[in-house]
Amino acid sequence: MQSEINPWSANQSIDTDKLFTEFGIEPIEPLLPEIRNAPAFMRRGIVIGHRDYRPIVDAMTGGTPFHVLTGFMPSGHPHLGHLMVMKEVAWHVQQGGNGYVAVADREAHAVRNISWDKCSEYGREYLTCLYALGYEGETYYQSTNNRLKDLAFEAAIKMNFSDLQAIYGFGQETALAHAMSVATQVADILFPQEDAGPAPTIVPVGIDQDPHIRLTRDVAHKLRFFTVEMRDGYVSVRSKNAPEEALAAVHKAFPKSKKYEGHVDIKGVDLSDVKTKVRAIEIEHGGYGFYSPSATYHYFMQGLQGGKMSSSVPESFIGFCDTEKAVKKKIMGALTGGRMTLEEQKRLGGEPDKCSVYLLNLFHMVEDDNELTEICRACKAGELMCGTCKKATYERVKEFLADFKERMDEAEHKVDER
Ligand code: SF4
Repeated sequence: MQSEINPWSANQSIDTDKLFTEFGIEPIEPLLPEIRNAPAFMRRGIVIGHRDYRPIVDAMTGGTPFHVLTGFMPSGHPHLGHLMVMKEVAWHVQQGGNGYVAVADREAHAVRNISWDKCSEYGREYLTCLYALGYEGETYYQSTNNRLKDLAFEAAIKMNFSDLQAIYGFGQETALAHAMSVATQVADILFPQEDAGPAPTIVPVGIDQDPHIRLTRDVAHKLRFFTVEMRDGYVSVRSKNAPEEALAAVHKAFPKSKKYEGHVDIKGVDLSDVKTKVRAIEIEHGGYGFYSPSATYHYFMQGLQGGKMSSSVPESFIGFCDTEKAVKKKIMGALTGGRMTLEEQKRLGGEPDKCSVYLLNLFHMVEDDNELTEICRACKAGELMCGTCKKATYERVKEFLADFKERMDEAEHKVDER
């Protein structure tokens, strides 16, 4: 059956309980006390879940290496809807992560029919925004990264059409280039480990991108030489693709081990020590030694007209380069959680959780948690009217954009220097 989360689908309404129960995504909340100075996007529940974020928390706490990677599809101008993932990447870099950002131009060209010139222009804008946020790290375009293309080819060996059919609903009519762009995306996620060495890798994404994460975790696993697991009191190292010399090296590395056809059993050792040594042996013998990538998942910022913020519907988003007049028009015309009449609003209060203006404040425009709580309280109590609230929000957005544009101008040279 086709996956119910499809990154190319227009319908983004997602049942989050189902994500936790059926898709194996875990809530982020229990990890928050261990995250030093948890950022607003985690405190406020914008990031709702994760897969395997524990190794990243441990790496941030222990100061050990980890990577952070995301990709942007340059199918239009960047806007406020893209800001969340940019902040997440920049924050993880500040916590010690090695940053990687891919401009997914092959995907934009294959899936959205965007010309290469436009891909380059939009990609440049995305990168400028990232640098304006203080991002430091690697950036590349998929189309010009030859090592990425080689890795995509290796990844494609471990993928087949029935996977793509099950995950994305690919059928007889699906262009081959679309399948190739999926392999390229898998390679994007694994690229930091190929480039800078195996280490836990965090991929902050919108919740619709989970199929890519699941597929990549599966491919990363298939590309490994060995599986290492506890079996009947032994640590058992089983070969999947390993050359015979690599399995012999595992046997040699552990004096109390026994070698059998296709596996080595080791007694009286710590599972994680074995995993570390086995990974090193795998790399020595030409394997990748990949860690399965981890992911955090955030909600989308709802469009200003309700529904999804979409690059093809200008009224739904605020662009980084929109004029003040356009921004004002969009905010003043936005769909809110307000009532039909002022009298009703005073009596019943507004519904901030259904309000695109409130979400703008929650996601990006109000940094102080107390100030945000007060907006929410006053709205629900019927003390705050939508007109007043929209005007105040417009002032915040205006100030944010003026400052951000200045930072973009200052950062532009970094795109040329990369
Ligand atoms: Fe939204 Fe503000 Fe109106 Fe409440 S008062 S519904 S937060 S615009």
